[in-house]
Amino acid sequence: MNDLVLFEHPLFITDMMYARENNMVGKATYADKDVHFGNVAYMHKDVAKALLSLVPVLQEKQLKMRICDAYRPPLAHQKMVEIVPIKGFFKADYRTSNHCHGTAVDVCLTDMNGHNLLYPTEIDAYEERFQKQVSKGEFAEFQQHLQKARHDFMDAAPEALANRAFLKQLMETHGFESIPHEWWHYNLKGWAEYPVIEWE
Ligand SMILES: [Zn+2]
Repeated sequence: MNDLVLFEHPLFITDMMYARENNMVGKATYADKDVHFGNVAYMHKDVAKALLSLVPVLQEKQLKMRICDAYRPPLAHQKMVEIVPIKGFFKADYRTSNHCHGTAVDVCLTDMNGHNLLYPTEIDAYEERFQKQVSKGEFAEFQQHLQKARHDFMDAAPEALANRAFLKQLMETHGFESIPHEWWHYNLKGWAEYPVIEWE
């Protein structure tokens, strides 16, 4: 028995990007037969509690939150890092990825119709053209593009910068920590105390 819970709530959209094909890996790793996963947002119960604490703000602001990744099975992580071996994008060792501990989420805010607000990049800085390059082992342009995923990247539309800042403020006041190089990624505060969770 582990502490994972399946997270579902009307103000949260479950859109696990590795359960679909339009992601930087270029395949639905979570749908692989040996992974036994799918478009499901599992996470540590403490993360679920922290996300639920956002509900009053989402209601007040008339926003929803899109969850593009949460708990990630270690086997899926290993497959993903083989396809995209970019340092700092996927952790080389799954044991150091908070997603494999159930303590990280990749999120953005949407309007009530589920349309993403404007941000400096897509989640994971995904673009089809970069995925095509990466699939051929060409990483340079994508790595350049990843600069735009940083919280200190300021050369974007004011609306995109404001949305990024609002998300950060929201998450940091509700139990999460940001990381400098991915505006969409949030770790639960105290993440270091949580072990890797195997998926079986
Ligand atoms: Zn992440």
